[in-house]
Amino acid sequence: MKLITCGLPYANGKAHIGHLRTYVPADVYVRYLRMMGEEVLFICGSDCHGTPIVVNAEKEGVEPRKLVDRYHEHFKKVFSAVGVEFDYFGRTDSDYHHEMTENFVKKLIENGYVYSKEIELAYCPKCKRFLPDRYVEGICPYCGAIARGDECDQGCGRYLEPGEIKDPRCKICGSKAEFRKQKHYFFKLTAFKEFLLNYLDRVKGTENALNYAKQWVRQELKDWCITRNLEWGVRFPGENLVVYVWVDAPIGYISYTREACKEKKCDWEEIWIKGVKKDQIKWGDITHFIGLDIVYHHCIFWPAMLKGADFALPSAIVASGMVKVEGKTFSKSRGYVVWVEDDYLNRGFNPDYLRYYIVNYTSHQKDLNFSWKVFMDKVNNELIANLGNFIYRVTYFAWKNFNGDVETSEFDEEVVKAVEKARDKIIKALENWDFKVASDAFMELASFGNNYFQSNEPWELIKRDVEECTKVIANCLHLVKALVLLSYPVLPFTMKEVAEIIGLEDFRMDRVCELEKVRVIKKPKPPFKKVEKEVVEEMEKIMKERIKRAEMKKAEVVTVEDLSKLDLRIGKIVKAEKIKKSRKLVKLEVDIGDEVRQIVAGIAETYSPQELVGKEVVVVANMKPAKLMGVESRGMILAADVDGKAVLLTPEREVPVGSRVR
Ligand SMILES: [Zn+2]
Ligand SMILES: [Zn+2]
Repeated sequence: MKLITCGLPYANGKAHIGHLRTYVPADVYVRYLRMMGEEVLFICGSDCHGTPIVVNAEKEGVEPRKLVDRYHEHFKKVFSAVGVEFDYFGRTDSDYHHEMTENFVKKLIENGYVYSKEIELAYCPKCKRFLPDRYVEGICPYCGAIARGDECDQGCGRYLEPGEIKDPRCKICGSKAEFRKQKHYFFKLTAFKEFLLNYLDRVKGTENALNYAKQWVRQELKDWCITRNLEWGVRFPGENLVVYVWVDAPIGYISYTREACKEKKCDWEEIWIKGVKKDQIKWGDITHFIGLDIVYHHCIFWPAMLKGADFALPSAIVASGMVKVEGKTFSKSRGYVVWVEDDYLNRGFNPDYLRYYIVNYTSHQKDLNFSWKVFMDKVNNELIANLGNFIYRVTYFAWKNFNGDVETSEFDEEVVKAVEKARDKIIKALENWDFKVASDAFMELASFGNNYFQSNEPWELIKRDVEECTKVIANCLHLVKALVLLSYPVLPFTMKEVAEIIGLEDFRMDRVCELEKVRVIKKPKPPFKKVEKEVVEEMEKIMKERIKRAEMKKAEVVTVEDLSKLDLRIGKIVKAEKIKKSRKLVKLEVDIGDEVRQIVAGIAETYSPQELVGKEVVVVANMKPAKLMGVESRGMILAADVDGKAVLLTPEREVPVGSRVR
């Protein structure tokens, strides 16, 4: 039994294109393995612990489990809707996972790989609590950037150990945190240096992951603090602490395997435990698909933990490149994101289009750029104009002219060879997780088919040489069958439909080259629907608005320097009159100390000119002059916005005009 896993999605937000960047290729690989006759277990599940979930749950005023429930169900639904079909999708806050994790940690302790140490930790005197991970913000000790407690996310990207961050502040109340001593537990990662170098030299997978990891192991291996001050998580044996989320999350691969095996009647110990010996590496038939951002955890922490607790080791680690959106680095907070449900599925796009885009845009290890224009081009000019066109014109021709029944005993050598070549290329590519090459190969075969059809002109042949025409169409149907099978891992929804049209029931790789009669048993329809320009423009508009909203949100955060740019002063209104033809505007003369300013203000709906005279107000004195209804205004009056009506801000007691507001 082969075990294939995907990095666990964190149950703290919705599914986006970054998730699919890893999961779709993993699903393609699983479908391919099954076509090759392999027995595969494909598992994943929600990562439910850690401070971000607790922090967000606190913000929403709900229990962490409630938040997790919501996103867990969301992920399950979305993955299945895009055809990523896991055999088991578990959650790390389940009892079976807690039990597996506790046993795992006990094994590490028993084997002597865990020790305790007093460390200095950020503590908020106001909130009266220790501040683990996301509860604290401060300065990265390596690069000086503003960092979170566990990660220098805006600077050097380093993983930070508890207590490492400088100038810590409490994220909840903003107070300056102090350092206090507390006993925590450490995993002896440094004891695994030789093992890791040896393991990373031999494990299979993508170079991007392995090269980074080797570099890290050579440079900066440190023992790893594996406990946290939290309620939410897996309890560390005998202490009022939980294990760090990055300890328990990957153990999910094991606990989910065990649960999946209960349903599938397989032996989880066969995969993870049996045959393990202390002094050698036991290779499990385990492949982890991950994103490039979690290489450190999967190539360093995880193999060391597995070795330390007497488990088998993954035989391959496959990392996908990162995602860009419209040419910019993927970022939820800046609006460069594609939400799978809201932006894609709910708008009725065929999931196969996105699957094709993800595997075909670039190689698995490189950065993928998602752009709606490119999306439209890839669907319309590649899937439809090439693959869909060939399948439809052949099946339709056979249906119309032969009633779907096309018999021949003669297969063209060039056709037979082209199919074999494509199959060999695809198998070789997928064995190396080269999804781009594999998907290019079936598109090349479709091009070959279109050329073959075009140059043989069956629409002419049918008029003068039916026998020859029959042969050409039978050969084309052989190509159609091959295309359905070869593109099925990438385009499962569409190819299942085409398979029904040609009566193909099982998706097996050994049928690709089989020279057999292919019947068209149902009236064909075009396999793909065009993506319209208007729809893409609408999607671009939605994206632009989201980016704009994100920018505005960002603009609300100002520094002391920004604020000091404003010249705010107390002024006294000395004259006020309504501006004709305007419901809202009133023209004021305001004494701001060294001069009297003419200011137009939109306060006529709440104040009459008479009651304004003599009032002290806050004036923005360095506003750029503007004309309102043809009247010049040199300044601005501050007011509270109460349901669209202005209520003036005035000093609490009378002060000298011209007083500064700070
Ligand atoms: Zn840093
Ligand atoms: Zn605090």
